[in-house]
Amino acid sequence: MNCPLETRENAQLLLDYCTRKLEPESVATLERHIAICGACREFARSQRAVWEALDAWQTAPVSADFDSRLYRRIEGQVSWWDVLLRPFRPPFSTATMWRSLPAAAAACLLLMAGVLLEHRAVAPAPAPNDMAQVDSVQPEQVERTLDAMEMLNEFSHHVRTDSPDSKL
Ligand SMILES: [Zn+2]
Repeated sequence: MNCPLETRENAQLLLDYCTRKLEPESVATLERHIAICGACREFARSQRAVWEALDAWQTAPVSADFDSRLYRRIEGQVSWWDVLLRPFRPPFSTATMWRSLPAAAAACLLLMAGVLLEHRAVAPAPAPNDMAQVDSVQPEQVERTLDAMEMLNEFSHHVRTDSPDSKL
């Protein structure tokens, strides 16, 4: 016979031989070829190794409390709030804490502004007679935000100059 590795249909024959699906007479023919063909011998050997490994492989049984432990771990995960604030969280040192406080405050302010904007976007469109009120409210909010940012800026300036080890 021709080498099974050279044609697609004969390669299937070789695979069937490895998975022991082949008719006895085909097995005999193939084994005669394998005896003289190093490539097929190597192929059959590696295929057998894979199948034997798969046969021997057993999954570990799932413990009875797997689900409850999984849900406990999921609940124990950090919240999105913690993830969001982690970059601003100071290490355990008073000096660095004071220095990063303005950053944390700025983050809070940005968050508040974001929540406010999102809330506005989600809110239903105002009726035409409410438009005047919306127009008068928005600049006021912007002004308040700007005031807060100015206050924050001043605060951070004071912190920088007050902080004894600050070289900024
Ligand atoms: Zn061969």
